[in-house]
Amino acid sequence: MNETTTTIANDTVVSIEYTLKDDAGEVLDSSDGGEPLSYLHGHGQIIPGLERELDGKSVGDELSLHIEAEDAYGPHDPERIVEVERSNFEFDVKEGDYVQAQHPDGSVIPFLVTEAGETTVTLDGNHPLAGKALNFDVKVVAVRDATEEERSHGHAH
Ligand SMILES: [Zn+2]
Repeated sequence: MNETTTTIANDTVVSIEYTLKDDAGEVLDSSDGGEPLSYLHGHGQIIPGLERELDGKSVGDELSLHIEAEDAYGPHDPERIVEVERSNFEFDVKEGDYVQAQHPDGSVIPFLVTEAGETTVTLDGNHPLAGKALNFDVKVVAVRDATEEERSHGHAH
């Protein structure tokens, strides 16, 4: 293990600069002006389509990717939209608020309040980017082997 790792493979820590746009060209997220994003490759820490495209790439590589919703945050699931009684809330919920609520599978996730009526409130537990195709401009800026601790934790430090 004397050679320096520069190629992306499972259990490498990858740093990327990226700009994320929706299909209308609007910038949704970007590492511009901040730190590059670092993640542990092969552990599902980034969306599947991006992880798959980065596999085998090297420092300095630049990619322009179009990733369908299925390989990003998944389809928009209508079953994640629920209507609840306003009396469940101890505060005045408004449209656009996020509230923590328990999903039927037991996990506690943020729900977006999409409608706040007088007696009922509509909550959407989908990821904000669910159902959206994503366009990434990505540049690989660093690759290194993960430490043993990072491997056992399943994320980059
Ligand atoms: Zn850790």
